Amino acid sequence: MFVYADNAATTAVSKTALEAMTKALAETYGNPSSLHRMGREASAALRQARETMARCLGAQSREIYFTGCGTEADNWAIRYAAQAGAAKGKRHLISTPIEHHAVLHTLEALKKEGFEVTLLPVYENGVVRLEDLKSAIREDTCLVTVMYANNEIGSVQPISEIGALCHEKGVLFHTDAVQAAGHLPIDVVAQHIDMLSLSGHKFHAPKGVGALYCRKGIPIQPFIQGGGQERGKRAGTEALPSIMAMAAALEESCAHLEENRKKVEHLRDKLIAGLSKIPFARLTGDPVDRLPGMVSFCFEGIEGESLLLRLDLAGICASSGSACTSGSLDPSHVLLAIGLPHEIAHGSLRLSLCESNTEEEIDYILSEVPQVVRTLREMSPVWARMMETNPDPYKE
Ligand SMILES: *Cc1c(COP(=O)(O)O)cnc(C)c1O
Repeated sequence: MFVYADNAATTAVSKTALEAMTKALAETYGNPSSLHRMGREASAALRQARETMARCLGAQSREIYFTGCGTEADNWAIRYAAQAGAAKGKRHLISTPIEHHAVLHTLEALKKEGFEVTLLPVYENGVVRLEDLKSAIREDTCLVTVMYANNEIGSVQPISEIGALCHEKGVLFHTDAVQAAGHLPIDVVAQHIDMLSLSGHKFHAPKGVGALYCRKGIPIQPFIQGGGQERGKRAGTEALPSIMAMAAALEESCAHLEENRKKVEHLRDKLIAGLSKIPFARLTGDPVDRLPGMVSFCFEGIEGESLLLRLDLAGICASSGSACTSGSLDPSHVLLAIGLPHEIAHGSLRLSLCESNTEEEIDYILSEVPQVVRTLREMSPVWARMMETNPDPYKE
C-alpha cells in the first residue's frame, strides 16, 4: 500500500488547480502589463485571481500581493514592520520560538542589525498565553508576529485574541498562516490581522507561489525592486499560471472547509487514538486546538530518521520534525521549545493528512507504525538502558 501522509511539507496539486494552471499556460500566456488583447486578458485573469483570494480571507482585493512563496511573504512583512518601526525609534519585535525558519531566521538577522526580539513562551502544548503577550508589549514594540498554526505539532494559536490585543495596544500584527490557509477559517477583519502570509503548495496549488495580505492604509514598501507590478510593491512579471492555480485551489478549499475539516479530523483522531496505545508514546502539540490533519508524536528510545526510512520502505510517506530540519542531527527547535529533552525529541514522527486520505490508509499506518517502533526499540541501546529501570511493556 502507498500512503502520502506528509501534507504539512507539501500537498498534491488538485485537479482544479491543475486545470486552472494548464489553461493559463496554454491560453492566458500574455504579460498582464502588455496593452494588447493578450495582455488585457492576462490582466483580467490576474484581477479575478486577486478577488478570489481576497474573498476567501475576508479581505479586499487591493490588500492582496502575490509573492514567490510563503517564505518571501514572511520576510517581506517582518522586514517592512522593522524598517517602519525603526523610523519611529521602535526596534522591538515579539514572536514565538516555534515559528517557521522563514520567520525565525529573519528575526535573527534583524537582531544582528540592532533590533531586539522577545520570544514568548509556548508551554507544553505549544500555545502562547495572552497575559505573556500583554506584558511583553512595550512602547517601542513595532511588530507582533505569531504563526496561525504550527507546521510540526499542529498547535493553533488564539489568533483573534492576539490580534485584538495588538490593536488595543496599537502594535502591528502579522501572522504566518501558511499551515492554516485553506484548512482553517480565516477572516482578517474579524481576527484583527494586519498582515498575513500564505503559500499555495500547502493547499493543493503548485510550489513557488504565495501571497501577502497587507491591510489597506499600511504603507508597505517593496521588498523586491524592479517594475511596477503589484501596484509598485512587488516587482517581477506575475506568475499567472501559478497564481490562477493558487486562487482556484484556495477557493475550492474554502468552499469545502467544514466538510474537509470534519473528515480529516475524524481520520486524525483515529490515528492519534491508535498511536497513543504504543508504550512510551507522547502526542506533541495541543490535544484539542490543533490542525485538522496533524498527527505528531514522540516515541521514546528510537530515532525519528530510522522510523521514517522504515515507514518509507512500507510505502508510508511521513516526516520527522519539519522537512527543513530533517537531514540535520539537531532535534527540531519546535520540540525543544515545548520542553522536550533532546533524547525524546529525536524520536519524533509527523503524519499530516488531507481530505484525500482514507480509513484504509489509517488502518494500514496503524498496522505498521507500532510494529516498526517495536523493532527499532529492540535494536536500540537507549531503549535497553530505559528498560533497566522500567518494566518492559513488550514482555508479557
Ligand atoms: C511551508 C511553510 C512556510 C514556507 O512556505 P514556502 O512557500 O515553502 O516558502 C512558512 N511557514 C510555515 C508555517 C510553513 O509551513
